[in-house]
Amino acid sequence: MGLSAARALAAQGWQVTLLDQDTLPNRRGSSHDQHRLIRHAYGAELGYMAMVDHAFAAWDRLWADLGARHYVPTGVLAMAESPGGWLGASRAALRGAGHAVQDLAPEALPARLPMLAATGLTDAFLTVPGGVLLADRILAGLLRLCTAGGVQFRQGRATAVEPEYARATLADGTTLAADLLVVAAGPWLPRLLPAQPVRASRQVIVMLEPPAALRPAWAAAPMMLDLAGDGGFYAVPPVAGTTLKLGDHRFASGGDAEEPRDATPAEAEEILALARRRLPGLDRYRLLEARACHYDVSPYERFLLAPLGARGWVMGGFSGHGFKFGPLLGEALAAAVADPHLGRLLPEWAAGLAPPPPGLLPSGA
Ligand SMILES: Cc1cc2nc3c(=O)[nH]c(=O)nc-3n(C[C@H](O)[C@H](O)[C@H](O)COP(=O)(O)OP(=O)(O)OC[C@H]3O[C@@H](n4cnc5c(N)ncnc54)[C@H](O)[C@@H]3O)c2cc1C
Repeated sequence: MGLSAARALAAQGWQVTLLDQDTLPNRRGSSHDQHRLIRHAYGAELGYMAMVDHAFAAWDRLWADLGARHYVPTGVLAMAESPGGWLGASRAALRGAGHAVQDLAPEALPARLPMLAATGLTDAFLTVPGGVLLADRILAGLLRLCTAGGVQFRQGRATAVEPEYARATLADGTTLAADLLVVAAGPWLPRLLPAQPVRASRQVIVMLEPPAALRPAWAAAPMMLDLAGDGGFYAVPPVAGTTLKLGDHRFASGGDAEEPRDATPAEAEEILALARRRLPGLDRYRLLEARACHYDVSPYERFLLAPLGARGWVMGGFSGHGFKFGPLLGEALAAAVADPHLGRLLPEWAAGLAPPPPGLLPSGA
């Protein structure tokens, strides 16, 4: 978010300093990983479903600037063990907005995707737009564009911010002052701005190597969202040299962005247990790595893009679904900073509760 906002503000003529406590790209950041997913299916959240179209347009603008496309379209397979629910709401919303949804008979899934068992499934669908954003390559690209756009980088930890005066105090006692301060602190937000309604959530992911016989099927598989009653899991297929990854839909009950990223064997097993029924023979997959990454969770999972004092903005509360919107939200923030009218309307759109106000996004986006 910080890189995207810096890129967009610099393009508007701002002299931007990007302050980070770590060296960039930051391996401890929420954004750092091999992959992040983008999909239209959003349950009954029509605002975020519609925002995905604008996000794709913003990614296209980024690919054009980078001269490279760090995206692998895989399609999206959603599966559930009871009718209705998130799958039913997504299907209705998608069809209502004119998106194609291919219903799949659960019992036919294993013939099509041999890594799957249909046990307990009652519903499944496939949507074609959607896939894998190659996150670490995107961060490297954004860093390059920011550097080329004149953004200055400074390493240091902000211990306090005064958005009223666009000031930040650093751990070494230095004070930085500017005309505008944007706080995009990811899961560290609760440490820096404890009054904001955001908490950190420790999420465990496991990286696996499938058995040889299943590797071709996995390499061609869609991203998978399994919405079983116990919470289910998501699977990111091993595309473009990345590894197969499994993660958990549920939020953890706690977490702190400063805690170590290594996951314990028990934490890894908790994720594997969610997937064992759907992925038969999971014990024959090789566990390559298990680690934690942190979400910045807000009430109702709504993004917090809002003015903060007279000269500040906060970007946070991305609740495990922000990456796909990074370049879009950076552009929107820069537009809102330049126009107070848009600035008043941005928070509701970013919360998924209103359409984008005219003029917020580039025309045609
Ligand atoms: C396991 C996992 C899976 C996810 N899957 C998806 C997905 O499939 N699709 C999707 O759209 N989203 C997904 N997300 C969410 C998405 O990755 C995040 O919403 C997004 O990356 C947040 O970006 P950010 O810039 O706000 O935070 P970060 O990337 O964490 O960046 C915050 C930066 O602020 C710096 N910072 C913080 N505090 C200070 C301070 N006091 N002083 C100086 N610097 C500071 C940090 O060092 C860090 O570099 C996932 C997240 C996780 C953890």
